[in-house]
Amino acid sequence: MKKLLNGIVDFRKKVRPEVKDTFALLALGQAPDTLFIACSDSRVAANVFASTEPGDMFVIRNVGNLIPRYQEGTEAPHFGAEAAAIQFGLANLPITDVVVCGHSECGAMGALSQGEVQGDVPAFKCWLRHGEDSLRKLESGARIGSHLERRNQLSQLNVLEQLEHLKTYPIVQERLAADKLRLHGWYFDIKEAYVYEYEPSEERFRVIDETYAATLLKRVVASDPER
Ligand SMILES: [Zn+2]
Repeated sequence: MKKLLNGIVDFRKKVRPEVKDTFALLALGQAPDTLFIACSDSRVAANVFASTEPGDMFVIRNVGNLIPRYQEGTEAPHFGAEAAAIQFGLANLPITDVVVCGHSECGAMGALSQGEVQGDVPAFKCWLRHGEDSLRKLESGARIGSHLERRNQLSQLNVLEQLEHLKTYPIVQERLAADKLRLHGWYFDIKEAYVYEYEPSEERFRVIDETYAATLLKRVVASDPER
């Protein structure tokens, strides 16, 4: 907390004068084109590794970057924060891309892959059920990420599984059918500080370097959703 408070003082002195006008404009409204879904882990710093600015991304973060499947007919009080954020974001903001970003050394994926949770944390244990399909894929010998240690492979498989969960949301299905939405699976390797995107044609996560970023950018331009 000391670091945060000193950081605010520092921001007021050094950064605020430069970004004050930007924030004043943002106060009039936000127009992010990306919904970014990531783990709560403190090391998954997208503002650093994707050089993002305020207003660039609408964000959902939770333990393990898990998206509960949309359950048709579920009574309203049982909808969770993730469903609310997906619906609010896609219905109200000009979002054209959704990123699910997993990462290496994930505590949630570690617990899931070991099949045991340390401590008296029933809510965490219950929450991990949304990653059980990912675990089943790992245990059935999935090839993707098989060169990685077990929990990191699970993290990659989990990114792909959560993209499938996203597709159970009616609003996501509608946008995909109308070519107005693209889904991306990312994986952040903490130790190397590399970001990977899942490349369907190669069935692997490929590091986003200048070459691959150029390929991805061409794809984005070519399929830019009609607005
Ligand atoms: Zn994590």
